[in-house]
Amino acid sequence: MKLLVVEDEALLRHHLYSRLSESGHVVEAVPNAEEALFQAEQFNHDLAIIDLGLPGMGGLDLIRQLRSQGKSFPILILTARGNWQDKVEGLAAGADDYVVKPFQFEELEARLNALLRRSSGFVQSTIAAGPLLLDLNRKQATLDDEPLALTAFEYRILEYLMRHHQQVVAKDRLMEQLYPDDDEHDPNVIEVLVGRLRRKLEGSNGFKPIDTVRGLGYLFTERCR
Ligand code: CA
Repeated sequence: MKLLVVEDEALLRHHLYSRLSESGHVVEAVPNAEEALFQAEQFNHDLAIIDLGLPGMGGLDLIRQLRSQGKSFPILILTARGNWQDKVEGLAAGADDYVVKPFQFEELEARLNALLRRSSGFVQSTIAAGPLLLDLNRKQATLDDEPLALTAFEYRILEYLMRHHQQVVAKDRLMEQLYPDDDEHDPNVIEVLVGRLRRKLEGSNGFKPIDTVRGLGYLFTERCR
């Protein structure tokens, strides 16, 4: 998933950037609200982690502004210990959940995963479509109960398509799931990856869940639950 991290403490920002990247996310980590607004305007994020105590425009105003611009991705706030008013105001401003500093990365990750799951309408930590099952925690796929050998990039594409099942997903969106935005990448990469993914998914029983919608992108045709 593509995440926006807004944290002014350089060490924590770096820590979040590296741990979340290791967990398979594409992370844009910025130190202030102004840069966050720029990022949010340019790109499509799946979730934002926002520290409330920021220099310049504060986290609360940032959240209000993002919401007033119609950004509906889940927002997880980072708040200082003992400041319960922060949590209440943060949630009132449009945040979805909070983590109190200092926190264990595992707690933050668990809350983040829960938010991502709910925002795509799934209540469990698996997504199923016909013979295909995705384990969101272990980041593994099985087809007819057999483990599928997917590369990290193939898995990310499959997870994104399944989260947005029965919707056309543009190639650009898939690209954003793989690379940070400051890099130039060949869009043909997506075609190659989707091609490989299809070959791995198409079993003997006619299961062909990924359609190409010419000029628009890809469509995961099976209903996911
Ligand atoms: Ca801070």
